[in-house]
Amino acid sequence: MNEESIYYLDNNATTRVAPEVVEAMLPFLTEQWGNPSSAYSFGKTVGKAVAEAREKVAALINANPREIIFTSCGTESNNAAINSALTSQPGKRHLITTAVEHSANIKFGESLEKRGCEVTWIPVDRAGQLDVHEIHEAIREDTAVVSVMTANNETGVIYPVEEIAAICRSKGVLFHTDAVQTPGKLKLDVKSMEADYLSLSAHKLHAPKGIGILYVRKGVSFQPYVMGGEQEQGRRGGTENVASMVAFGKAAEIAMASLDKDLGRIKALRDRMEEGIFNTIEGVSRNGAKKPRLANTSNLSFANCEAGAILLLLDREGICASSGSACTTGSLAPSHVLTAMGLTPELAMGAVRLSLSKYSTDKEIDHLLEKLPEIIAKLRGNPTKTTESATQEAKR
Ligand SMILES: *Cc1c(COP(=O)(O)O)cnc(C)c1O
Repeated sequence: MNEESIYYLDNNATTRVAPEVVEAMLPFLTEQWGNPSSAYSFGKTVGKAVAEAREKVAALINANPREIIFTSCGTESNNAAINSALTSQPGKRHLITTAVEHSANIKFGESLEKRGCEVTWIPVDRAGQLDVHEIHEAIREDTAVVSVMTANNETGVIYPVEEIAAICRSKGVLFHTDAVQTPGKLKLDVKSMEADYLSLSAHKLHAPKGIGILYVRKGVSFQPYVMGGEQEQGRRGGTENVASMVAFGKAAEIAMASLDKDLGRIKALRDRMEEGIFNTIEGVSRNGAKKPRLANTSNLSFANCEAGAILLLLDREGICASSGSACTTGSLAPSHVLTAMGLTPELAMGAVRLSLSKYSTDKEIDHLLEKLPEIIAKLRGNPTKTTESATQEAKR
């Protein structure tokens, strides 16, 4: 399928790489291929580009460049933060996180439980929101770290991380936040947020996959997760992924310059999309509070429909959307996020996530609003229709 026939409504899974970003990174895949750690000038010019990229990513979250560690992805950043909190405080074996985190945190937490750590999983209510008092109550003498995402990738629900950070600070506990879904959608300021660790990933911000950062607040001790050379001030071994770092820097710069302008347009499009769906289809419910919620995300449950079947028929029309997170597709289990919110298995299985970006167009929304009502009617017309029968049909 070529790009013209793609209607991309899955920007929380990954985003299109901006043309300006490709242009900025190309020299580092062609003539500027030196090792940034080398002492000769062919390497040093590359090192300078890495330093500039670090400054730009730091500016995106109002951090000092020295507080930025480049990593291979958001998953690594999350794992590295929690690992560091535990290894730098050997007596502390308890951590607090939520039931709705990205699988990067869920799986890591589960593996830590098997290795003798204790994890408190903070629940959420029907709107997907958590109660900060529960976090306050869960903090113990041996709590090494509290990790709460800034915004949820499936529902777009925004969490009160500043308030949680303040609680952690008052109790002397480290605080990490997975902010991967927020650049380009929220203003981020680590100074006012007072997080000790914060994770970002470039591919959710119109830069390539395979590059992330972990912010580590000055004065917070950091124990490396990936050990090797002295790169990243000895905090993360491995020869720098220069082109991708430069790309991340460029994407951060663009996002900062156009956040306000982009966000208003994205929100207007998303709201028009939701309104259009609610006006033309019965039995639709929105998952996740109306506010506070990311302006680009919509998670909707279609009663008496299976998301797998909806997605197959949408795909046939060139529309890319997802059910839950990309990482859990392929499995028949309902989303852990929607389950934690207390949705019935039926409604959780009927949930579709539509997520926009600054590249989303009216044409894409119009196409969705034209096709979706037919698809839902078709699936409801045959109540026994399962993912398999939709597959058969899609093949015809
Ligand atoms: C995408 C995502 C991640 C994982 O980032 P990768 O760079 O793909 O490893 C982590 N957390 C959230 C909230 C995400 O949306």
